[in-house]
Amino acid sequence: MPAYLYDLMARRAPSPAKVFIETPEGRKLTYGDLHAGSARIANVLRARGVEPGDRVALQVEKSPDAILLYLACLRAGAVFLPLNTAYTPAEIEYFLGDAKPRVFVCDPATREKLAAVAQGAGVAHVETLGVREDGSLVEAARAASADFADVARGEDDLAAILYTSGTTGRSKGAMLSHGNLASNALTLVDYWRFTEKDVLIHALPIYHTHGLFVAMNTLLLAGGSMFFLPKLDPDLMLQLMGRGATTMMGVPTFYTRLLAHPGLTHEATKTMRLFVSGSAPLLAETHREWTARTGHAILERYGMTETNMNTSNPYDGDRVPGAVGFPLPGVSVRITNPETTQELPRGEIGMIEVKGPNVFKGYWQMPEKTAAEFRTDGFFITGDLGKIDERGYVYIVGRDKDLVITGGFNVYPIEVETEIDALAGVVESAVIGVSHPDFGEGVTAVVVPKKDGAPDEKQVIAALEARLAKFKLPKRVLFVNELPRNAMGKVQKAELRKTYGDLYKK
Ligand code: AMP
Repeated sequence: MPAYLYDLMARRAPSPAKVFIETPEGRKLTYGDLHAGSARIANVLRARGVEPGDRVALQVEKSPDAILLYLACLRAGAVFLPLNTAYTPAEIEYFLGDAKPRVFVCDPATREKLAAVAQGAGVAHVETLGVREDGSLVEAARAASADFADVARGEDDLAAILYTSGTTGRSKGAMLSHGNLASNALTLVDYWRFTEKDVLIHALPIYHTHGLFVAMNTLLLAGGSMFFLPKLDPDLMLQLMGRGATTMMGVPTFYTRLLAHPGLTHEATKTMRLFVSGSAPLLAETHREWTARTGHAILERYGMTETNMNTSNPYDGDRVPGAVGFPLPGVSVRITNPETTQELPRGEIGMIEVKGPNVFKGYWQMPEKTAAEFRTDGFFITGDLGKIDERGYVYIVGRDKDLVITGGFNVYPIEVETEIDALAGVVESAVIGVSHPDFGEGVTAVVVPKKDGAPDEKQVIAALEARLAKFKLPKRVLFVNELPRNAMGKVQKAELRKTYGDLYKK
């Protein structure tokens, strides 16, 4: 019986002998290995009592076996639930208690600590999966049959739950269906022209939508292959570009780190046809520098855990620095006034709302939160503020929670950040609102200076005076060596707000 997304992958798979994954240690997994290996794990899951719809949670390091487990879940009708490797046992306790998985898979090294947590949360089975083809799940799979009768799944059945990074409150489990994932990956294969000839440099984590779905599902549906790296490694990535890689998907940090490498040249990237960036804003300056150094224009796209990918710069045509491109085929994007919910004309900044087959099924066991984030006509309220220009390009100006309201005026941080970043002696900046006794919030700039020629606080403010309305000017400019970022390269503004929370206290 067809297991929707897996069935689609199997039908589009190239010859079983073709390599899908190659690791730096030289481990290779062919498409045939994917089919047999995922069947073995699916048999183990079934033996552990996993029924269709049951959750299988995991917190493991990146490895090809974790991918086999993902495919096994699709085939067994289970809901794959990957957890960030940075989560502490206390956080894991919350996720397991909330999702109530039938099986929890952790690293052999963390078993001792996490088994008790899992038991406390009522999880029936704890298995382990290591990075060296080790762990109880891998061993059990070795002894299991390589034949598995896939569980029938339809497009609305859940394939995965991904907890959002959640900057405030408890993180929410986004429920993604087979149809959500399949439709988005098929769209991306076409839009970004992926074929069997493609070899992707995969250095993203696989507990997040970018590395797991955007990269993995797209390559699987294209029948391509991947160099599978544990993490960002500019030296190795440049070597792989010389060894037949054709594409890379990364967060902006990948691009800035590669730009800092003297080996990045036209020559070094000549086998590459596509560089994709997303998950956090790519500075227009990075975009331009990349083109100057390599001759390639980075293709920036916009998506989120709840919606998969929403917009993308075009494959042919202008890839505009600072823009996230056009709505993908089948996806509707509109900009609304957050208060009145009225759609806004082109060029005006408002809430980005999205509708399409890519948009998730709601938050796990949170019907009220789900209802609050959808309009009655089915549009999802992304929480991102942005605009659409005359040509139809979408721009993101930031999360609505990061909007600064000072003396009753709205200040979009990106507007101030762009001006500061353009100053000589500045690497980058983050603008936040900090509680202020007179203004409600005070516009506050946190700046990473260059080693040489950095301006001081007064000079930054003086330089901005000519460029920005008075209410947008930072009340304070603070200097730091680096901005706090998460694994996906997103600046943690909530953390900055906490750090500087008392700045204007009298
Ligand atoms: P996540 O759910 O972790 O993938 O985070 C999704 C959020 O990342 C979005 O709601 C945006 O705020 C941000 N994001 C994703 N792609 C971009 C992009 N290309 N430019 C700016 N922000 C982005």
